[in-house]
Amino acid sequence: MKTRILDGKEVAQAIKEEVAAEIQKLAQENLVPGLATVLVGANPASQLYVRSKTRTCKELGMHSEAIQLSSQTTTEELLQVIDRLNQADEIDAILVQLPLPDQIDEERILLAVRPDKDVDGFHPQNVGHLVSGKVGLAPCTPMGIMYLLKREGVILKGAEAVVVGRSNLVGKPLAFLLLHQHATVTLCHSRTRDLPAVCRRADILVAAVGQPALLTRDYLKEGVVIIDVGTNRVESVEEGIRLFGKDSERIARIQAKGYTLVGDVHPRDPIGVAKAVTPVPGGVGPLTIAHLMKNTVTACTMRRGGK
Ligand code: NAP
Repeated sequence: MKTRILDGKEVAQAIKEEVAAEIQKLAQENLVPGLATVLVGANPASQLYVRSKTRTCKELGMHSEAIQLSSQTTTEELLQVIDRLNQADEIDAILVQLPLPDQIDEERILLAVRPDKDVDGFHPQNVGHLVSGKVGLAPCTPMGIMYLLKREGVILKGAEAVVVGRSNLVGKPLAFLLLHQHATVTLCHSRTRDLPAVCRRADILVAAVGQPALLTRDYLKEGVVIIDVGTNRVESVEEGIRLFGKDSERIARIQAKGYTLVGDVHPRDPIGVAKAVTPVPGGVGPLTIAHLMKNTVTACTMRRGGK
């Protein structure tokens, strides 16, 4: 079987073009969607994500405010920042970059974000909307994946969808979104019995686990569509050779950069077996940021009444 590699960058570009058109419409009503990102501490990976989000906002002509707070910030101090952003009319979407340092009560923070500015869809009100199938703000990675599946014409109605990983950020919301599109959904986790057998039932297999190359050939049915959410670092050349082969350009990348990324699905096993697969990197990652922009525009339209 010929396996299609699903290019996340191309799909992200399509999302951004839709967002740009919506931004133009809002501009006719003098509305500029605004995203605030709040980062506590100096985690380099989080700084990279936040920079890339701010850059994308600028590219699209959106307003953005990047707030960087010290790693010593207390829950009360962060609550004050959230309160200001909740009240700022030019801010439509508030993104608190996770994880937060240990001294901060994450639940209190996520509850404090106004539900209509909760761009990650974490507030119980938005979770409720998602579960009951109402329109609202839902987490960006699952929304990006749904966009990709639709664009690729993957039939969801009646399909067996297996989602591995039950996080509030990816697995659980995605399971509901697939269910609302009439897929038969199985949600797996670390206690699932005989995971390979469950995965082999899948017409659509989503891996959101955080374990490098966990899903190997034994987990795949012929013709499956694979969405690999995992982003794991491979730092050793030996491990790189085992996963990618000794002739892969990834080996040079490990030697030059100190690491390369691998998904939760083995990078070579789907080829010739799966109908389609998202690569890592360049698959789900770009969709997440593009959908953050889309959610910001949705939040602006819902709250400030763009037509
Ligand atoms: P998470 O909160 O750590 O959850 C991991 C899930 O995987 C848990 O439900 C856990 O089960 C399950 N799990 C762990 N080991 C397992 C095993 N051996 N067999 C079956 N299930 C297992 O992870 P997350 O936040 O959803 O992220 C998952 C991965 O996606 C990570 O690599 C993350 O970096 C990546 N990610 C990428 C993007 C993107 O935009 N590309 C966005 C978000 C996340 P239990 O619940 O039983 O512990």
